[in-house]
Amino acid sequence: AAVGGPLATRQVKLDKECELRIEVSPDMPLRLRLLTGTAEIFGTEIAPEIWLTFPPRLKFAVFTWYGATIEMDGITETDYTADETPMISYVNVHAVLEGRRNRAKASSSDSDSSQGPRVIVVGPTDSGKSTLSRMLLSWASKQGWKPTFVDLDIGQGSITIPGCIAATPIEMPIDPVEGIPLEMPLVYFYGHATPSVNADLYKVLLKELAQILERQFTGNAESRAAGMVINTMGWIEGVGYELLLHAIDTFNASVVLVLGQEKLYSLLKDVLKNKPRVDVVKLQKSGGVVSRNAKVRQKARSYRIREYFYGLANDLSPHSNIINFSDLSIYRIGGGPQAPRSALPIGAEPAADPTRLVPVNINQDLFHVVLAVSFAKEPDQIISSNVAGFIYITDIDIQRKKITYLAPSAGELPSRLLIVGTLTWLET
Ligand code: ATP
Repeated sequence: AAVGGPLATRQVKLDKECELRIEVSPDMPLRLRLLTGTAEIFGTEIAPEIWLTFPPRLKFAVFTWYGATIEMDGITETDYTADETPMISYVNVHAVLEGRRNRAKASSSDSDSSQGPRVIVVGPTDSGKSTLSRMLLSWASKQGWKPTFVDLDIGQGSITIPGCIAATPIEMPIDPVEGIPLEMPLVYFYGHATPSVNADLYKVLLKELAQILERQFTGNAESRAAGMVINTMGWIEGVGYELLLHAIDTFNASVVLVLGQEKLYSLLKDVLKNKPRVDVVKLQKSGGVVSRNAKVRQKARSYRIREYFYGLANDLSPHSNIINFSDLSIYRIGGGPQAPRSALPIGAEPAADPTRLVPVNINQDLFHVVLAVSFAKEPDQIISSNVAGFIYITDIDIQRKKITYLAPSAGELPSRLLIVGTLTWLET
């Protein structure tokens, strides 16, 4: 907390290989700048002298390899200096990946060896997976690579709103405030914040995304050599573990980074031992990773949706539009909640097909629901199509058969085919 009044500016001197860990206050942004030396935020160097403004609730660290002085303006929830970090081991991983990228680049473009590293980051919730993914991406792009970031975390993803899996090329170090640029991500809508709702659909969408990326790599030696960094969910038990194995397999991962869990590491090491081209590496979790309980996670999901429509600093102005029921076709994927196989008589198959398209009647149930706008031309293409964006239903007039919805911009929707899941949002 601040010394000398709530708005005092103060300086913090960081020794080499130390970091300043900060949780911004829930109500006020924090300003910060680099006065002397060099420093980075999750892999992205910060420019000297320039004030950066961090939004409320953000949790981050300013790390220095050689020493730095930082100035802060504003109150924080907490801030402290740490001299023990796993950064050296993380940057060593980066160095190994760099070597592999260079080798891939030097190989002839049709050979297997022209594929750069495909890194998948796994571990329990709050082990720092997103943060490590981000550092590896920023360090690589600083070196001139354009690695592909694949985010499979439907609960707390960093590319778009929750309930989605997505991929995007990272062309420059990730901005410490803005995060991943939302220009042209490839997004598939799963529609739920946990995979257990429809694990089969999750797998199908992963396959679709992997296939598209595979195709893109075939035509693009540069991004092929740069490789991928894949962030995963923190769900590592039972079905979650099965889905991890499925992801490693589907994306043909060549490096599995296991954060902060011995048990998961030895399990993976064991199942992957027959695949000599897959390296399983254990990494220490950073002491700076902030744990988030279910309530905080739910809130974070809500903020993510808000950010999609209104921007991080309320700098976007979404449009409210009205449309006739008859101008929309809304589908749900999968026929309602499935009975687990274990609950059925031996030999019986669950009745609901997890990838069946079910037309949805428009009624009050859609109030406050977030829908994805599909790029599909026909309903039967919905599952294999990525999505253009999202809308949020703010009013349903049953009598006049009209829906009012919020969209990022004015004008016609790119498609009349919409997908609904269980994702809702209460605008606050
Ligand atoms: P989940 O499984 O829920 O997606 P995760 O394993 O991906 O979690 P992160 O999102 O990387 O974990 O980290 C959790 C939080 O801790 C984030 O808000 C992140 O910014 C913060 N954090 C991570 N490392 C540090 C650090 N060294 N100092 C301060 N904050 C940190």
